[in-house]
Amino acid sequence: MKDNVRYSVIIPAYNEGAVINETYRRLKQVMKTLNEPYELLFVNDGSRDQTAEIIKGFAASDPSVKLLDFSRNFGHQIAITAGMDYARGDAVIIIDADLQDPPEVIPQMIDQWRQGYEIVYAKRSKRMGETFFKRTTAFLFYRILRALTEDINIPLDTGDFRLIDRKVCDAMRDIREKNRFVRGLVSWVGFRSTAIEYTREERFAGETKYPLKKMLRFSIDGVASFSYKPLKLAASFGLVVVAASFICLVVFLTQILFSYSAVSCWPPLIACLLLLDGFILIVLGVLGEYVGRIYDETKNRPLYILRNKQELEDAKHNGVIYSE
Ligand code: UDP
Ligand code: MG
Repeated sequence: MKDNVRYSVIIPAYNEGAVINETYRRLKQVMKTLNEPYELLFVNDGSRDQTAEIIKGFAASDPSVKLLDFSRNFGHQIAITAGMDYARGDAVIIIDADLQDPPEVIPQMIDQWRQGYEIVYAKRSKRMGETFFKRTTAFLFYRILRALTEDINIPLDTGDFRLIDRKVCDAMRDIREKNRFVRGLVSWVGFRSTAIEYTREERFAGETKYPLKKMLRFSIDGVASFSYKPLKLAASFGLVVVAASFICLVVFLTQILFSYSAVSCWPPLIACLLLLDGFILIVLGVLGEYVGRIYDETKNRPLYILRNKQELEDAKHNGVIYSE
């Protein structure tokens, strides 16, 4: 049905010197069995360790390896985006560099793609070796995100490990928004999709590059890129507060009019003021999140800067991208 196909595998890597050799070995092992041309597109996201040098070492002896070398750390989502910009395969696979996403699942994804699905998600049925905190926050995040985004169907418990068809990759390349939540965007572009289940393995070596702060940022990006609900919630809550204060006012006035003893209003008044101030500041913060996004878009800076752009352009020009 699909002949002469070519695959691209995108591997974002940030300080993955401890695992990248093993990742390369496992990926090669799997890709070789397909007997079709492929490219391994490593994206070095401004690593401060030996990651880039190690990948250059692979590329020296293996023409299927390509390196997109960022000038600094631009973040995981941007690294995937760069991979999609340069990937040339008919099917493009995105996989983490730390072997939490087992490369052995790729042939199953390809089977589904050959059956006509344009997006094949890999859904985590189990997560190994991750802390209770990480599992719980991830569980909650996917559910809250789903509750807040009604119009698009972002699948639960699904990371960026997936296969996308050329058509999806081209559609993704047209989206240049700055604060990117790639898995949401892939759902947004549509197309026929299916899921396969897999067990998310323990990280092979090294530690997570998503500390709490980055995880929070990522979650906020996810929500704010796809939903206005936080803004609407602020409006509804404002209405509730107005109604409540009106009732309080009536109660106070009645007390003042009909009681002869002096009523001390200060403690509840101060509490109310602090509550309202806090609430207003939270709403301002939420608003700021959206205004900040507009600001980012208007600056119109490039999404990433490549150290080896010229080299890549030359390679593209000479057509030396694929090999078996
Ligand atoms: N990553 C990246 N840039 C970053 C952070 C992470 O390219 O700023 C890569 C990282 O090398 C890995 C993938 O994104 O291949 C997922 O990161 P990680 O495994 O640390 O996240 P976790 O699995 O703990 O959520
Ligand atoms: Mg990981």
